[in-house]
Amino acid sequence: MEEINIDFHIHSRYSGGTSQDMSIPRIAEEAYKKGLNVVGTGDATHPRWLKHLERNLNGDGIYSTNISKTRFIVSTEVEDRDRVHHLILFPDLESAHSFRDAIRPYSANIDSDGRPHLSLSGEDIAGIANDHGCLIGPCHAFTPWTSLYKSFDSLKQCYGANTKHVTFLELGLSADTDMADRIAELQDLTFMSNSDAHSPWPYRLGREFNRLSVEEVSFDEIRMAVERKSGRRFVLNVGLNPREGKYHETACTRCYLKFRPEDAKKLGRRCPECGGVIKKGVRERISELASWKEPRYPPHRPPYIHIIPLAEVIGMALGIKTLRGRVQIEWEEMVEKFGNEIQVLIDASIDSLIKYDQKIGSIIKAFREDKILYDSGGGGRYGKPLYNRSIKERFYDLSQRSLSDFQS
Ligand SMILES: [Zn+2]
Ligand SMILES: [Zn+2]
Repeated sequence: MEEINIDFHIHSRYSGGTSQDMSIPRIAEEAYKKGLNVVGTGDATHPRWLKHLERNLNGDGIYSTNISKTRFIVSTEVEDRDRVHHLILFPDLESAHSFRDAIRPYSANIDSDGRPHLSLSGEDIAGIANDHGCLIGPCHAFTPWTSLYKSFDSLKQCYGANTKHVTFLELGLSADTDMADRIAELQDLTFMSNSDAHSPWPYRLGREFNRLSVEEVSFDEIRMAVERKSGRRFVLNVGLNPREGKYHETACTRCYLKFRPEDAKKLGRRCPECGGVIKKGVRERISELASWKEPRYPPHRPPYIHIIPLAEVIGMALGIKTLRGRVQIEWEEMVEKFGNEIQVLIDASIDSLIKYDQKIGSIIKAFREDKILYDSGGGGRYGKPLYNRSIKERFYDLSQRSLSDFQS
């Protein structure tokens, strides 16, 4: 068995609000430096992106380029009639074409938007995906705009008779395993942590990723890992602390003031400070859905490591906010020395990191041990690890859980 790092969910330059740099050569180059073995192509129902994929990718199933060793799995995100987003993984480019043909009559923007809106239900889409040999699951399942649990209270309400075809759930930047494993109906699903990146830079691409244990890199092996068959499985979820997510706390979408759920209700979800709308946070939504007060990990659940991109770690160490200039130079040097960014963040020994740079090493150690303090996000504004505290204060133990708590 080998272990591979995969980010399944990104967008091409043909989705709204994305960087023009989202081309296959650029993604292949940056993903390799990040340490991703496989990246989702995203947007695989868009005609021009499909052409771009066919010009730039070689192989069948999992595709390679002549740019780097990072490979690609064909993927897309679609929005259903209830504005729920679904992630779809295709066995190959041909199945993306036939899936596109099947959904085309139900979409007005499939030729213009990389993430098309469909006038179909989640149940319909899961059925079509299954007919084409695809894997499907809900994206960023708890966010307050375009997610399964924004529109529904259960998987069944969304996917109906096709719920059995849903084998994974994407946690999204504002949630993690600790939160989602309070919901009984999710115990059998594999959790995914993906970046949903809109630009190729390593502080976006792979800012969340999954580590899978497989026999070789193929679509069938990845499918087996998602379905946890024959020993193939996800061995790690890695991503931001949910406190960093834009919709973690219940907060005002205009002035970002945060509210306790009971206060938000009393206020009729209107901000008394500025009159803006108070948006229900992921934490509050999960509490509503939760079957248990504390998470219950099914035996198959891998640990979840909270980390931030290396450029931000270096910025913290240097006390610099901009990720270019000195931070960029230091980043290049570290990636050169350790092989790739994921090696530095997850795999390199703390001793070797501290030997390389005392401050950077200590910060990464604190992340791995989950001892970082956060100012949580909400209302559409990202949270952040607290930069201005002294290192000592920042490592203050919030009685957060650490990696060893997961390992049974
Ligand atoms: Zn989405
Ligand atoms: Zn997306």
